[in-house]
Amino acid sequence: MDLEDGLLMMPGPVPVAPRVLRAMSKPMINHRGAEFSAMYDDCCEILADVFQTKNDIFILSGSGTAAMEAAVGCTTGKDDVVVTLENGKFGERFKKIALRYGKVNPLENEWGSSFDLGEVEKKLEEGAKAITLVHNETSAGIQNPAKEIGKLAKKHDVLFIMDGVTTLGGDDVKVDEWGVDIAVVGSQKCLAAPPGLSMASVSKRAFEAMDEKESLPYYLDLKAYKKSGDKSQTPYTPAVPLFFGLQEALHIVKEEGMDARIKRHATCAEAVRAAANAMGIEMFPQLNDEFSHYSNTVTAMKAPEGVTGNDIKKDMMARGITIAGGQDHLSGKIFRIGSMGNVQPKDIILTIQELEVVLR
Ligand code: PLP
Repeated sequence: MDLEDGLLMMPGPVPVAPRVLRAMSKPMINHRGAEFSAMYDDCCEILADVFQTKNDIFILSGSGTAAMEAAVGCTTGKDDVVVTLENGKFGERFKKIALRYGKVNPLENEWGSSFDLGEVEKKLEEGAKAITLVHNETSAGIQNPAKEIGKLAKKHDVLFIMDGVTTLGGDDVKVDEWGVDIAVVGSQKCLAAPPGLSMASVSKRAFEAMDEKESLPYYLDLKAYKKSGDKSQTPYTPAVPLFFGLQEALHIVKEEGMDARIKRHATCAEAVRAAANAMGIEMFPQLNDEFSHYSNTVTAMKAPEGVTGNDIKKDMMARGITIAGGQDHLSGKIFRIGSMGNVQPKDIILTIQELEVVLR
């Protein structure tokens, strides 16, 4: 793939294919017309394969956080408790969102350290309406055990809301098999579309929870999305150029095939880890059980002695490669290399080659 000059190796936004950029420059169409509806249905059909679900899928004009808020805000209210699992910035974000709508019973781990499933279960035993999990905690490079959390959610009859923002489209995500009631993703990550759209799959059980609520958010009302979605439309004017881009990006996903795509992502992340290991760079995540893993889409590493993550990022940038530093209290302590979307092994080789020079 012939991408722009310079290499964007951050955990989103990711480089998009020229054909996706071209698709976005098409003339506008009537968003209530047949052409838009056909595009909407086409996108949802490919997304159903990515999400591995038979649940309804909706496409929101708004970044990943919009779908996170829609999920929590539509299903939980002021008398409800949400168990929020936090081991990074996006787990914390779910907690902050849930606090705007109701109560939380948070499990707050050190960022990057794996959850103890016994502790998760204890939280659920205290009573909850929903549990939130970030499948891949981008801020810390750790993949959390979605399947196991899904089992616990089922056992305790709570809604399972999962952020799959940096796994869906690049890793194996089994929404139906794991019992995920609402799964969300953003366009700018593994799907390799431009930023600005988010998608959510919603189960029947999640809709039942919405039916029980007195009021729902207005702009992020998933029942309104359902009503319009049944007519292959969105409730409000969608970001049409972004839909053009998304449709093209999803066709690239379909042409590659999810199995091959997942394998490519895993290979690329594994190559980053192997190179880091060979250079004596330590991984950031603390894996304390067999259920959590290093991320297959972003590798978070500790800054070696004597340099900061920000120095590494700056020096890499000077060599034409954009990587990410640490967020919030991890700023300076870690650096992250994204390997999601259209990333190819040759991009990893180039990145590692430059990293070696920078750290020499
Ligand atoms: N969740 C995860 C795991 C993310 O990585 C991000 C963005 O980096 C978000 C949520 C927020 O998405 P957005 O910035 O598209 O609102």
